[in-house]
Amino acid sequence: MLALLCSEVTPKGAYDLLRELGANRGRAISPPTIYRSLEYLIERGLVIRIESRNAYVARKRPGISGGALLYVCSTCSSIVEAEVAPLDHCLRNVAAGIGFRIDRQILELEGVCQGCTASQTRVENPVVGVSA
Ligand SMILES: [Zn+2]
Repeated sequence: MLALLCSEVTPKGAYDLLRELGANRGRAISPPTIYRSLEYLIERGLVIRIESRNAYVARKRPGISGGALLYVCSTCSSIVEAEVAPLDHCLRNVAAGIGFRIDRQILELEGVCQGCTASQTRVENPVVGVSA
């Protein structure tokens, strides 16, 4: 499953994984098996769940410390993960100040990735030949 997720840039839903792994192995895989495997990979920091998409993607930097900030491209669904130690520190300080215990941290930002921005710019501003 990790190999399947690592081969993807965009997140995959549990049922996509179920179908693709079943097809690869030539036999059906049960949903609880998929969810247990995903849970195992998430606990080890190898896979991350994209809450806004209800999907999963392999972490590009498994050793990342603290909370990761996820930039989700609304055009191509690619995910860019960034380490945000100062932001993480700030959020924990605020939580401590208001006596709030953080159990789970989800930081996802939706927008347009560099590749999609570049291709949109090319479409909007086509190169015009210069006449002498
Ligand atoms: Zn994109």
